[in-house]
Formats: sequence, C-alpha cells, structure tokens
Amino acid sequence: MGIPKILIVDDRPENLLTLEGLLEGFVVDLVRATSGEEALAHTLDHDFALILLDVQMPGMDGFEVAELMRGNRKTKHIPIIFVTASYKASEHIFKGYDSGAVDYLLKPLNSKVFRSKVGVFIELYQQKEALKDKTVEFDRKLVELEELQQQLEETNEQLLMLSTTDGLTGLLNRRRFDELLNEEWKRGSRTGRSLSLVLMDIDHFKAYNDTYGHQVGDDCLREVASTLMEIPLRVMDKTSRIGGEEFAVLLPETGRQGAMEVANRVRECVDRLQKPHHSSPTAGNVTISIGVASLVPALDDPARKLLELADIGLYRAKSLGRNRCCYHENEAVSAPKVAVDQT
Ligand SMILES: [Mg+2]
Repeated sequence: MGIPKILIVDDRPENLLTLEGLLEGFVVDLVRATSGEEALAHTLDHDFALILLDVQMPGMDGFEVAELMRGNRKTKHIPIIFVTASYKASEHIFKGYDSGAVDYLLKPLNSKVFRSKVGVFIELYQQKEALKDKTVEFDRKLVELEELQQQLEETNEQLLMLSTTDGLTGLLNRRRFDELLNEEWKRGSRTGRSLSLVLMDIDHFKAYNDTYGHQVGDDCLREVASTLMEIPLRVMDKTSRIGGEEFAVLLPETGRQGAMEVANRVRECVDRLQKPHHSSPTAGNVTISIGVASLVPALDDPARKLLELADIGLYRAKSLGRNRCCYHENEAVSAPKVAVDQT
C-alpha cells in the first residue's frame, strides 16, 4: 500500500500554502492545482485519497470540477472537501452536496476541525486500500486452492486406478474383481437376472516359464490380456487378471448361452495367436482352458459360489484335455426337488 495522495486545489497560491501548513504532520503526498482544469488533469494521472477543492475559482469553479469528476468512472468515488470563503453557507452546502461532495469547510479554516476531517478520510482510504489488497490476496489464494484441489483429484484418480489395475497387463486386478463380483452379485439378487463368469487359465504356463523364462512368460501374459481386451464386450462386462495365469470375465445379465459364446470366442482368439509353446503336451502353441458358470444370484448365498462353480468347470476342461470350455451347471438349480403332495 502506497502513501495516500491528497490533491489541493485553489486559484491563490497563498491559500495553497495555508493548506499545506495545515496538512503538516500527515504522511501524505501532496499534489497542487491552481485551476479546475489542472485539478481534473491530475485526477486522471493519480489515485487520490482526498481532494480539497476551492469553490470560488475563475473559469471552472469547484462545483463544476466536482460535477465533472462524478461523471467519470475513475474519479467518481474520490472524496471531496469543498473549501470556501463564502458566507452563503447554507446555499453552498446544498449545492455542494448535490454535486456529490462529502464535506464542506469554511475559510478561514479551523485547524483542529480541518485536521480531524482530513484524518478521517485518510484512514478511510487506508482501510479501503487494505481491503483491496486483501481481496487480491484472497483471489490469489482461491486460485491456488482450486489448483491444489484439481491436483488432489488427479492424484486420487491415479491412486484409484493403480489400486484397481494389474500392473503387468493393465486389466483389472484381483481386488477389483472381488469387489465387482460382490457388487454384481447383489445387483443380480435384486434384479433376478443371471450373472455369468468365464474363468480361464493358460495351459501349462509353468512349463512355458520354465522353457522360455519369466520375461517371455510376462510377455505371454500381456499378449493374452490384450487379446482379451480386443474381444468386443459391453461396458458392464469386466475382464480381470485374478491370479498368475488366471483371467476372468464377469458378465452381468448374461445367461449360459451368452457366457459360452464369450468363452468360445476367447479360447479361439488365444488359439489363433499361434504363440509357440513347445513344452505344451496340449498343442504346439499357447492355449487356454475355460470354466463357465451362470447363476441367478441369491442374497443368502455368498458371491464366491459363482467362482466355485466356474472353477469346477475349469477343472473339468483341464481334465478333458485342455484348450476347451466347460460349463458347470449349478445342481441345485438344474435338478430342483419337486415336493409332491401325498394327500
Ligand atoms: Mg478561490
């Protein structure tokens, strides 16, 4: 905040000297004008805390200066104290206030009254400036805060993505799969619609790692994962890597037939990669075995029931020679006990 500036205007230099003398002791910058025109020119170049304005001046008088100042956006809020030698006080006071003056003093000036009034205006100006500074500071802080908030949101998003994604393949991880399975299980129990799970395992993957090394093994996992990602699915279908060489596709609102279609397509696509696997007793290339299960979730049952059924299907696919899909029926559903009324 700079030193407050005061404009003193009077057509007589000796009056300007009197004003200067009365202002002694105030820490202010004084700017002088001896005519209305000069005063107006100064108001455009400076930002004044107060103007002490002589009323009686040849040419443009104090009231005209004040009126012109009120018409200008830059100068309309500058406080003015009219200084006049006229004794027609009441008439002038009204004229003065009509022009927007904020105060009125009669010559000869009473030092005590004069200094007290000027002091009030300087204080008001300083308060206004301090408030302006605070507002600027506040706006800057607000911008900073918004930037920080955005950074925080981005970091949170990244963290969330990291915590739900498998680092190697970019698929969803086991943690996210478990969450999704539970969510979809609950949703299915509400809607009464089937939830299906396609559970797959790369065949003889340990032998693959032993033959080609873990680096190539990781490449193979990534390649199978990208093959899975390329299979066209709905947004609600979720593909995850849930174990070392184990993948899963969760298919909400999907029954046996739809799930088997997805499973067969996945198996074919991986087979079609013709990725060499010389130590596989199943084929000369990388293949996968798939277990499929489909259930209308019941809230009384745990969600892992679907996983257990698909796992049984997967086990069967392996024991039948791998590189195939096996659907495992939920016995409780496929063979319902019929109660017969014996009466
Ligand atoms: Mg005069």
